[in-house]
Amino acid sequence: MSSTAPRPVTRTRVVIIGAGPAGLTVANLLRTAGVDCVLLEAESREFIEQRPRAGFMEEWAVRALARHGLADRLLERAPTQGEFEFRFDGERHTMRTGELSGRRHYVYPQPLLVTDLVASYVDRAGGEVRFGVREVALHDIDSDRPAVSYTDPVTGDRHRIECDFIAGCDGARGVSRAAVPDGRAVLTRHDHGVAWLALLAEAPPSADGVIFGIHERGFGAHMARSDRVTRYYLQVAPGEDAGNWSHDRVWDELRARLAADGAPPLAEGPLIEKVVLDMHNYVVEPMVFGRLHLAGDAAHLVAPIAAKGMNLAINDALLLGDALIAHYEGDESGLAGYSEACLRRVWQYLEFSQWLSSVLHGASSGDRFQAGTARARLRRLLGSESAAKAFAGLYMGEEADL
Ligand SMILES: Cc1cc2nc3c(=O)[nH]c(=O)nc-3n(C[C@H](O)[C@H](O)[C@H](O)COP(=O)(O)OP(=O)(O)OC[C@H]3O[C@@H](n4cnc5c(N)ncnc54)[C@H](O)[C@@H]3O)c2cc1C
Repeated sequence: MSSTAPRPVTRTRVVIIGAGPAGLTVANLLRTAGVDCVLLEAESREFIEQRPRAGFMEEWAVRALARHGLADRLLERAPTQGEFEFRFDGERHTMRTGELSGRRHYVYPQPLLVTDLVASYVDRAGGEVRFGVREVALHDIDSDRPAVSYTDPVTGDRHRIECDFIAGCDGARGVSRAAVPDGRAVLTRHDHGVAWLALLAEAPPSADGVIFGIHERGFGAHMARSDRVTRYYLQVAPGEDAGNWSHDRVWDELRARLAADGAPPLAEGPLIEKVVLDMHNYVVEPMVFGRLHLAGDAAHLVAPIAAKGMNLAINDALLLGDALIAHYEGDESGLAGYSEACLRRVWQYLEFSQWLSSVLHGASSGDRFQAGTARARLRRLLGSESAAKAFAGLYMGEEADL
């Protein structure tokens, strides 16, 4: 049951924009602590509960959600993984990242997490979400009376909610980041110069875990999602049209790039998602402007090379939720240190993604230097236990910020 019935709230403590993993986590923390908030979401509840995206959650993030009572279903249902396979030159090499790091990955598709977080906030805690809102605008973020206005999707009326704080959790294409006045933030961009065709196949996984196929024709990957659905990726040229990739072309290419001696054949099935993602990153620094606090993809985008984005969004949200609660108890330290604390982990994960990108894309770069150094990195990972341990720690996600 949703709580979209309009109530004339014109004042609350925190307006949260965006009901993704970041916004929903902040909302749950605030609601549990009795801090009034309203969540504004541009899409419908049905839409956000089905939007496919991430699948891997790091153990520290799951434990942190569990401490807030937000991971019951996840812990009950999510399988864990502790190894993956590199395939190159027709050979298979297993990386035992779980054993090397002492940690596991939880395989829990993002729509399931979003569904759980909405249920917890709306159905169990009676929290308020206004779904389907239009033309969201932020006002007076530099004052101690900021506000957010929006158009009601049913009546077409314009509403204004005054608040103490705005949590900008509206992802890469939201309006919060754009509300920051010119000159108040530095936006750093990095482009990996490649794109991935992100695919979801209605087919059982062809292996227990992740396979990274490193190939001169381009990178290819396999990731188990459930016993009925498997995610695949194919490296393609930036700006490529997904329509150029027919069913047969996709499966031919996956078979070529993931081929290895003794590997079972790929279980094929209809492609239910086919989107081209340019592999680029950005970071906004600082993540705070007056009373606006950005969190998740609104503040930083990490190309999904190392599956880090949702984990970072949850990290920000936990820090922001705790900091806002502490503020209402008279402790300003969390809000004062929020941006710096988030950005420490963001930059660690960006660096790791960049490193992994060079390993995964070197062979197909057409550049002998990049291909040679990528191969040297791969050989070091597979031949040196200390290199493998350091890699596993970063791949599985560190408990504490570095
Ligand atoms: C194909 C793919 C695979 C990925 N795999 C992984 C993975 O395995 N592991 C991982 O950690 N990360 C992964 N990611 C990244 C991850 O999905 C994102 O980092 C994550 O969704 C960020 O969460 P968020 O809450 O910040 O933003 P979002 O999930 O984008 O949520 C933002 C919300 O704001 C809403 N919104 C937007 N504009 C407005 C507006 N103007 N007003 C109101 N609401 C608005 C949107 O509808 C949305 O619901 C992947 C991403 C992709 C695309």
